[in-house]
Amino acid sequence: MSKIVEYTIEDLIEKASVYIPEEENLEKIRRAYQFAESSHKGQYRKSGEPYILHPLNTAIILTAVYADTDTLIAGLLHDTIEDCGVEKEELAELFGPTVANLVYGVSKLGRIHFSTENEYLIEYYKKIIVGMSEDVRVIIVKLADRLHNMRTLYALSTEKQKKIAKETLEILAPIAHHLGIHKIKSELEDLSLRYLKPDVFYDIAERLDKTKLERDNTVNDMMHLVTELLNEHNIPHEIKGRAKSIYSIYNKLNKGKKFSDIYDLLALRILVHTEQECYLALGIIHSKFKPIPKRFKDYIAMPKTNMYQSLHTTVFGVDGYLFEIQIRTYDMDEVAENGIASHWAYKEHKDASQLMQNTTEQKLQFFKSIIELNEDKMSSEEFVNSVKDEVLNNNIYCFTPKGDIIELPKGATPIDFAYKVHTRVGETMVGAIVNNSIVPLDYELQNNDIVKINTSKNSKGPSQEWLNIVKSSQTRNKIRAFFSKNEKEIYIERGKDSLEKELRKRKVAFSDFFTPENEAKLLKEFKVEDLEELYLEIGNGKHAASTIVNMIYKKEEEQPKPKKIIPKASDNNSDVVVAGIDKVKVNLANCCNPIPGDEIIGYITKGNGISVHRKSCHNLEYLDNRTVLVSWNSNTKDKYETVILIHTNTNENKLMEMMQKLSIFDIHIDRFFTLHEGKDTIYEVTLYVRDLEYLEKVSKELEKLAYVTKIERLMR
Ligand code: MN
Repeated sequence: MSKIVEYTIEDLIEKASVYIPEEENLEKIRRAYQFAESSHKGQYRKSGEPYILHPLNTAIILTAVYADTDTLIAGLLHDTIEDCGVEKEELAELFGPTVANLVYGVSKLGRIHFSTENEYLIEYYKKIIVGMSEDVRVIIVKLADRLHNMRTLYALSTEKQKKIAKETLEILAPIAHHLGIHKIKSELEDLSLRYLKPDVFYDIAERLDKTKLERDNTVNDMMHLVTELLNEHNIPHEIKGRAKSIYSIYNKLNKGKKFSDIYDLLALRILVHTEQECYLALGIIHSKFKPIPKRFKDYIAMPKTNMYQSLHTTVFGVDGYLFEIQIRTYDMDEVAENGIASHWAYKEHKDASQLMQNTTEQKLQFFKSIIELNEDKMSSEEFVNSVKDEVLNNNIYCFTPKGDIIELPKGATPIDFAYKVHTRVGETMVGAIVNNSIVPLDYELQNNDIVKINTSKNSKGPSQEWLNIVKSSQTRNKIRAFFSKNEKEIYIERGKDSLEKELRKRKVAFSDFFTPENEAKLLKEFKVEDLEELYLEIGNGKHAASTIVNMIYKKEEEQPKPKKIIPKASDNNSDVVVAGIDKVKVNLANCCNPIPGDEIIGYITKGNGISVHRKSCHNLEYLDNRTVLVSWNSNTKDKYETVILIHTNTNENKLMEMMQKLSIFDIHIDRFFTLHEGKDTIYEVTLYVRDLEYLEKVSKELEKLAYVTKIERLMR
């Protein structure tokens, strides 16, 4: 059995003083230690050591992530409420309310009593979520507490070892992962494996040991080469060989990989000072060592949701060995190791704990959604599976057309994507476009896919068959929830939704619309009992939402509408039809301003739906192959913006005359100005016109003017 180094309070003070310079804070830490020591007096751990060594070690683990003074103190005191009967109020008096709350929060996590294992896990998860939302530092103390307990687990009975190891692997390690505290996560995983599957653990450890020398030599050779290379290009850097954790190897073996495949893969990490140097170093390395194309990942441009940033590449290195190389800045490395706790490492972050709390809020969404579902209709087994699914598995990252990142479990389908965006989107989806092609609903999404979900108001909702297609149990449960709702509820929801949408369209707040006065008016007019019934009648199609709104805003409606001829892609009647799909956000590109009659092509933008260009637009050259076939919708009546240049051979100002000439046409002129003055004055006219045919007619008329030499469409 390995013996743990016996630390003293002086070791803690020494480690803390590296980043906590204030003498008064160090003194406070000393005081907390003394209080903890006297509170735990006479108590011993199973290993026979005085109890105080446990909280002391917990605090020492916390110094590794640069925990602030209050958190270190909470680490020292974390068991005083639970094990020594100290009151929260007493702690508040002695060490302040923050410390008292942290200790109390950690204690609450310990009090879980449930009959079945799954219920226990669920309850534990819930408590952690509550703890996190109060103060994420509670969870960080808990993780440090657990890490020390895992390090000293040998002292307990086999049965207890397994129980605690399982809980650690299922709950605490994933939490550490989600908070990005890799250092703690990885040690928790290795220790858990050691107690859960000792034979596997020691087998891997032994094999690693046997091949260590050979691997170390190869890694050293490669490090030497890479360092020389980067020095040649004057990139200051630090380079490290890096050990894979036993648990990560176990995981890969579990996924069917061979021992040899894993061991042959060697790993390096390069640290540089700036983001620019990351890309520079990458380029230089690729120029010398052949990369494996599909293995490159840019987590700098696209950070993982736990804030992780780094470049990953795999190259053929010395002696034909494959090398997995990570390139990142020192700052990124700090985040990669300590995740959310890295806020502590930067002194300039005045209120690190507030920052950490803000970051946590985002993560909470994820856990909260699992909990909500559980409250719906998930069996406890499904709940635990869904947590495992979503937390333990590798996730993929896809994008909405607007560029929002959606995190999904591996193997997810467009349906999972749609539901993750919003339940409504899932329930009304009729199809999906991934990158530039229409895909079947059971398509397996890949990292970086841009996914556009087509929805339809007339959709009848999800189909039972989707239950067999979707990957995430969250999605499956949402679909189930849909089927268990009755039709009436669905219509009511739908009706309310479309009314809200209509009001948004007219920029009216829901609350402004439903004044008691308006409400009474509506109920009377539409002969319904209450608002719910009104929603129902919108939802089942008896009344259009616009009819309801018009009823209140009649007067404004009757006034002549301002001339609105700027083309706008509406939901129902889009100007452009995209490859057989009826609803997709379309913008007419303003570099070439296409109008009906022009040959056009669609380009799938990252953030803004499909932008439609003229086929002749030179900008298309620079756009990659994310194009899609589009055609004009034959029954649009709008006028479309386009820009023409009128070349003349006169220096007289002919602007008024041309305006007059144009006034007889059914066009609308937006801007008309002199682009270039001189013997050959050029005018630029922005106008709205029905289509190409009509524009040609207009041009012909202008060309009849003696001084007009040429008319062309502007293309920027
Ligand atoms: Mn403890």
